[in-house]
Amino acid sequence: MIQLEHVSKTYKRNGTETIALNNVSLQINKGDIFGVIGFSGAGKSTLIRMVNYLEKPTSGTVLIDGNDVSDYTMQELRKTRKNIGMIFQHFNLLNSKTIFHNVAIPLILAKTDKKVIKERVMELLQFVGLEEKATNYPNELSGGQKQRIGIARALASNPSILLCDEATSALDPQTTDSILQLLQKINQAYNITIMIITHEMSIIQKICNRVAVMEKGEIIEEGNVLEVFGNP
Ligand code: ADP
Ligand code: ADP
Repeated sequence: MIQLEHVSKTYKRNGTETIALNNVSLQINKGDIFGVIGFSGAGKSTLIRMVNYLEKPTSGTVLIDGNDVSDYTMQELRKTRKNIGMIFQHFNLLNSKTIFHNVAIPLILAKTDKKVIKERVMELLQFVGLEEKATNYPNELSGGQKQRIGIARALASNPSILLCDEATSALDPQTTDSILQLLQKINQAYNITIMIITHEMSIIQKICNRVAVMEKGEIIEEGNVLEVFGNP
């Protein structure tokens, strides 16, 4: 479970202050597919960085499974982050490395045994339907395939939370649908909590059960997707 309590984030640059998040409180329950929607600049990426604890809030608390991560040491934070997978709009794959290596990265960083890495990576590639691409390089894949690899890498360390930051924004509608179906399969098969950041309402309507609408650093509406948006 992810809880944000009265979280604010202010950026100071060249003497000007930007309030990226203003008193945001939010609860995402285990197994939710939770959408966060808003225009560019609404504070969505900042919110995801709070959840991933890549940045500290200016004020307020972030609780992951009931633990206040602001008290954590660097080592504890690293351990917590292993519990959180993330996928990105531009996939963030290493183009000079094979698909196998890309998916293996979190396991290599965790100093996992080579034999275990091999089994786990092939199992993940199979799960996303791309085991035949193991020895290919990212630039030999289509956008949808790259995102499948991004998903396999995000799942490598068995996270309980998957953060998706505009993960389908670079994809055509058909490919977007197949990625959303894969996310649904992950949510159901592993009971992974999924948080989706997007500016597209159709994505929220297709797969999320709960949604928060952000505007100018604040959550202006939150609830069940059907209550907030109605039927697609
Ligand atoms: P979104 O993801 O919804 O587009 P962001 O969280 O990226 O919104 O940005 C929210 C606000 O905070 C914007 O006004 C943005 O310019 C500002 N902001 C985001 N990151 C930084 C930063 N590192 N330094 C200064 N201002 C930032
Ligand atoms: P899409 O139409 O989904 O964007 P592409 O036309 O890019 O897909 O690719 C179609 C198929 O060709 C995919 O299976 C992809 O792996 C393969 N492919 C694309 N580019 C290359 C390449 N440079 N080398 C080998 N295979 C490639």
